[in-house]
Amino acid sequence: MNITFLGTGIMGAPMAANLAKAGHSVRVWNRTQSKAHIEHTQPVGSPAEGTAGADVVWLCLSDTAAVEEVMEGVLPAARPGLLVADSSTISPRASRALSARLAEKGATLVDCPVTGSRRGAEAAQLIFIVGGPAEALDRLDPLFHAMGQRVFRMGEQGMGLATKLAMNLNIALIYQGFCEGLVLAEKSGVTAGQMLDIIAATMLRSGVTDYKAEAVRNRDFTPNFPLRLMLKDIRLMLDHAREMRVKLPALETVEEVYAVADEEGMGGLDYAASLALLERWAALPGGDLSMAAD
Ligand code: NAP
Repeated sequence: MNITFLGTGIMGAPMAANLAKAGHSVRVWNRTQSKAHIEHTQPVGSPAEGTAGADVVWLCLSDTAAVEEVMEGVLPAARPGLLVADSSTISPRASRALSARLAEKGATLVDCPVTGSRRGAEAAQLIFIVGGPAEALDRLDPLFHAMGQRVFRMGEQGMGLATKLAMNLNIALIYQGFCEGLVLAEKSGVTAGQMLDIIAATMLRSGVTDYKAEAVRNRDFTPNFPLRLMLKDIRLMLDHAREMRVKLPALETVEEVYAVADEEGMGGLDYAASLALLERWAALPGGDLSMAAD
């Protein structure tokens, strides 16, 4: 299959590489061209050029605005039979609007956000949460399995994103609970290491605490999932909740924490660094990020 991959960031670069490893013909485009050099793939000059001649255009971009901007290049080149698969976490409403515009050209949009972060992308172990017509999903199935381990079909287009937002809500709240417990313990004289050992040995343990324990133990906030993208997702969750008339009081508070962390320059670090803001507020030494690993 001829695939053009648009967006070779933390997630997109290994995803495109895994498609090429699986034997597909892959062309790539990235806004910052220097990041579009991936083994066994060919760079293209623009999203429009990449759409011409492609069977599938795959997107993995930061946010709704980026997807809307890039789709302005894809749409004029769209034609009947083209599949557009979007793994970006964006607004379900905006995704449905783009789907309608593609449908006018006879092309199909599938929302296929992912979970598994950088490690899952690199190891081709992502989990895809997808929405769209069954026929389109059947055609994409070999590509999902070239990049991931499981595919959850959620129903019509937009439902993958609605599900993904609800999943990330859990991640944000679990990590916030983990951090608040850690800070209270540290302030009481318990070390972070002791607390991490207890969490790992008890019912407090979860996939999130397992994944982030190493970053917290080593004070290494190299981004796997940048804090500014988690803040973007939290705001998408709150917008979606308002549309659905759902109140999310805990998430509203977490949004305030992440907004301050972003203002204080932590947006490019992993969201695990939000711990440092709570530590700073508690006048704990971990709040000084100059102690963190480079
Ligand atoms: P990233 O490393 O920051 O990459 C973002 C990509 O979007 C880059 O290719 C960037 O291009 C591009 N971009 C941003 N604004 C653009 C614009 N206006 N026009 C064109 N391209 C633009 O982010 P990531 O971690 O790969 O995340 C990508 C998506 O996957 C996000 O929606 C994120 O929420 C989702 N996601 C991430 C993770 C994770 O753990 N990282 C997990 C699940 C889902 P430049 O290189 O030019 O900046």
